[in-house]
Amino acid sequence: MHEIVVNLHMHTVYSDGTGTHKDIADAAIRAGLDAVIVTDHNVLVQGLEGYYRISRNPSTPLRKSRVLLLVGQEVHDQDRDPQKNHLLVFNANRDVSTLADDPQTLINGVNEAGGLSFIAHPRDPEAPAFKETDISWEAWDVHGYTGIELWNGLSELKTLVPTRLHGAFYAFFPQFIGHHPILEVIQRWDDMLAEGGRVVAIGGSDAHALNMRMGPLQRVIFPYTFHFRTVNTHVLIPEPLTGDVPADKRMIYEALAAGHCFVGYDLPASTRGFTFKGRGLESSVVMGDEISARRGVTLQSHLPQPAEIRLIKDGKTINIWKDSQACAYTAIEPGAYRVEAWRTYLGVKRGWIFSNPIYVR
Ligand SMILES: [Zn+2]
Ligand SMILES: [Zn+2]
Repeated sequence: MHEIVVNLHMHTVYSDGTGTHKDIADAAIRAGLDAVIVTDHNVLVQGLEGYYRISRNPSTPLRKSRVLLLVGQEVHDQDRDPQKNHLLVFNANRDVSTLADDPQTLINGVNEAGGLSFIAHPRDPEAPAFKETDISWEAWDVHGYTGIELWNGLSELKTLVPTRLHGAFYAFFPQFIGHHPILEVIQRWDDMLAEGGRVVAIGGSDAHALNMRMGPLQRVIFPYTFHFRTVNTHVLIPEPLTGDVPADKRMIYEALAAGHCFVGYDLPASTRGFTFKGRGLESSVVMGDEISARRGVTLQSHLPQPAEIRLIKDGKTINIWKDSQACAYTAIEPGAYRVEAWRTYLGVKRGWIFSNPIYVR
């Protein structure tokens, strides 16, 4: 398996972002990403997918770098008030925004179009100081979607800004924002896993590169480069990226569909190199896969740096390894086993890595 770092869920001038696809590609190269997935609201922008190289002030080391830019969309019913139920759609062969008035019809349409769907910012509270409404997911009776956006950079910010002054603080010191996914979202994911569901978790930035004006001050807050160094989805693909757009796109989406990925908060330290594997009697698997419980499964995880490792089965923490870089556990009982890693950054313990589960059946 080959690991690539992907940032997904972001907006351009085609919806409510301020940057272009080219700006995003530049920022992604500067941040060292392998791929980005742009998801403008209710529009599938055609003809811009491909490998990009740096376009502005190319310095020698970066000129050789390239990034794969893919285009999906974020769909919701714009006639609904409040405008809840946002769905991230990847790899659909057509614009599905016309199906937005019913979430289940939309998910079915994505499946028919060969796409993947992820519930975006499942819990997204209001932020009255900024006149931002609650746009959480409400239609929890839906089925057939690929997974959920476990960690969304913007939803977390909305939990932190009771006043505009708080907003100004985080605009200038965005490194203080990221703590962990909203706990209610983790709980909901665990509940679904405990009931036997297979739900892929991804992390999204929801980058907009917004312009903020406060008195005489104007600046771009949370620029794309900041987001791209923050919450990323690390994807495990069978071969290194080849440079062939259709082939590479297929590998990435197949891996996301299979849950061969983890959410990494790369700002405190890069999460590149994290692994979570299971070895049973007859087979070996990675996160996202299913394996037989017969005669036990050895679960092993390795971190790029020491941290607190937590092993969670069906929502219950069953083991903690403090200040460790690796751990092993023999799973006898069936269940969904996943790993979290936590570390202290800027004086606060923060979620660092959230793996997808290994499903021991
Ligand atoms: Zn949204
Ligand atoms: Zn969004």
